This record gives sequence, structure tokens and C-alpha cells, in this order.
Amino acid sequence: MLINSLVDEVNRRDASLRIIKSILQNNGREGFYDLTGLAGGFPILTEDKALLETYAGPAVFEEAIQILGKIHLGGEHVLALNRTSSGILAAVIALVKKGDEIVHFLPKSPAHPSIPRSAELVGATYREFEDIKEFEIGENTSLVFITGSTMDHDVITKKDFLRVVEISKSKEIPVIVDDASGARLRTIVYKQPRAMDMGADVTITSTDKLMDGPRGGLMSGKSDIMIKIKSKAHQFGLEAQPPLVAGMVRALENLSPERILEAFGNKHDLYNALKNDFSGVKETPTGIMLTPEAINLELNHRGLTTDFNHDDLAYLFAMLLLRNHGIITIPAVGMPGASATIRIDLASNDAERISTQKIVDAFKDTLIQLINIIDDPNICKSVLYY
Ligand SMILES: *Cc1c(COP(=O)(O)O)cnc(C)c1O
Repeated sequence: MLINSLVDEVNRRDASLRIIKSILQNNGREGFYDLTGLAGGFPILTEDKALLETYAGPAVFEEAIQILGKIHLGGEHVLALNRTSSGILAAVIALVKKGDEIVHFLPKSPAHPSIPRSAELVGATYREFEDIKEFEIGENTSLVFITGSTMDHDVITKKDFLRVVEISKSKEIPVIVDDASGARLRTIVYKQPRAMDMGADVTITSTDKLMDGPRGGLMSGKSDIMIKIKSKAHQFGLEAQPPLVAGMVRALENLSPERILEAFGNKHDLYNALKNDFSGVKETPTGIMLTPEAINLELNHRGLTTDFNHDDLAYLFAMLLLRNHGIITIPAVGMPGASATIRIDLASNDAERISTQKIVDAFKDTLIQLINIIDDPNICKSVLYY
């Protein structure tokens, strides 16, 4: 195994950041392509900074986020948070007591860990359902979660969504929707209504997913519940500070359904161009992905076997893509514990600057390079760490 520990992962990430810095110095910002879909833009304007340095700034952006947040999510009252996870935690602290139960319906397990972890923190039990026929509310259920679109972009059907709301309403249990990417994916690509328009009480989205904003959580919902959640968020320091709110405001102004739809169209071309050489490539809603197993499969197809585990192959692939082609994917720069799957998200800002052909050529070349080095653990280590 090449990557054995969290320390190895940190070292690999540090190596990626050094490479990116050197590309920046030699070729400028045009020298690399961040196709992670998690670029975390911060599109504030010069005048915003000046405003933030006054007492008026926070008030101005607070008013703007109320207006833009309601346009994007619906609902009556908006709350900006440090992360989606922070909003989920605030909601659970506000609405769930020890001994209560949280139930969660999602199109495919696993849930984002913030939901079960928040349940555990307040001493609540937690049940997850993927099959609508099995979904039920228990004696002690005090909160229902729906995930609109999972971390892997599996999207709930409108029918299942409405059914969960119906069952929850019949027992008067509030429904919160984790719509981290779903607030855009479900509505723009799958043409579903906004969560609030399908009967949710609260919804939350991530301002860096399928939009060019800073990492943060944007929540909206019915006023009576939002007041309770907001109070807890402030008590525990989970709310977004004014500079983050300013970034969210500008990102919401820039939100481009066209770019998301374009990515949705282009991914078919990319998928078709890759599938001859990578039989395990899969489409995602806004791009393609290559799992560690799929990379191993390509080696096997070419008569090669290796002692490295599959994740190692994916990390090597990601590092070669970055070193030789300036393409940034999550396995190269992700935090320890992030998935090793290679994803190309065509809704990323930088996707506009790189052609499908260039991505395809980079993938083919990277596979050849991987095959060339795979028998030499020392070279592999230097690709990962230096
Ligand atoms: C990304 C994501 C989250 C968490 O967002 P953070 O901003 O990282 O806290 C929660 N749920 C789902 C479904 C996600 O995709």
C-alpha cells in the first residue's frame, strides 16, 4: 500500500498544493483546471470589501441574503451558516431532544455524516430509509430529514419526496431537506419544484456545490421553526459571518442555470469519448467519474496486475493528471478521508476553458503513464509525495 494513513494523505495533499503553486508561478492561473466542482469561489466585488469595513456592511448583506435566499430556496426566513453541516446541527439541537428519534429518507445510503452525528450528539436514535415502501415514522420521531441529492448525486424522485412529506405531515412532524447540491440539481436539471414548494418546513443548501460560492450553508424555511434554529445557531457560533454572507450573495447573483444545463449536455460527449478506453467510466449528473475499481479494471484488461490497492491507483492517476495536465480532481487535493474516485465536474468554472478532447487526451495519456510506473514503487511514491 502506498497511502496507509491520514499522515500519508496530508503529505499527498501538500504535494498537490506545491505543484499547483509552481504551475501558478510558471504559467499563471490559466495553467491549471480545477474540475472538482468544489472550487469554492469568493466572487465579492471591490466595493463589497469597502462596505464590509463599515458598520453598514453586515446589514446590507443580511438584507440581500434574505431576498436572494428566498428567491433561490423559497421559504419565509433565511439563515446563512458556516457550512451545511452547521445548519443541520443547529436544526437538530433546536428540534430534537434526548430519547427522540430522527428518521431520514434518501435516494441511496449513505447519508451525509452530519445527520447521524448530530443525532448522536443530542442523544437521539436515528433510522435511514431508501425504500419508500418501508418509510415510517415512529412513536418518538420528532424530526424527518429528506436528502434531495446525495453526495454521489443520486437524486430523489418527486413522487418519493411528496410521499415522505405526506406521511410526516399526517403526524405533524417537521421535515428538513438536505438539498446541499439538490437545490440546483433537482430543480435545474431534473425540473423538480423547490423543496419548500413541495411542503418542506426547512431546506438547506451548500453554496459551493454547482454554484461558484464560498463553502457555506444557506437555509430557508417557515418563520416559526427558523427562529428556533437561528437562536441555536447563534448560541453555538454556527452562523455565517458577514464576509461569508457577502460571498454567498454575489454567488447567488451569478448563479447560472445555463452553465449547469450545459454541463449536463456535455457530459454525454465526454462519457462517449472515454468509454472505449475506460470501460468502467460512469456518468454523474454534471460530469463523469472513474472509481478506483474502474482504474484497476483497465489495468487488468491490459494484462496487468498490481499489489497496490485500488485507492492507491486512483491517487496515482489523480496526481499524474495534475502533474502532467494541470487537471485538479478531488483525490489529489481532497482532505484526508475524501473519496478516491476521480470525478470531472463540467459545471466547474474552469470547464469553460478546457475542451472535451483535451480531457480525453489527458485521461488516455495518464493511463499510459500509470502503466509505465506501476511496477516501480519508488517512482510511484515520488509521484504521490514530491
Ligand atoms: C456536501 C454535503 C453536505 C455537507 O456540506 P458541508 O458544507 O461540507 O457541511 C451535506 N449533505 C450533502 C448531501 C452534501 O452533499
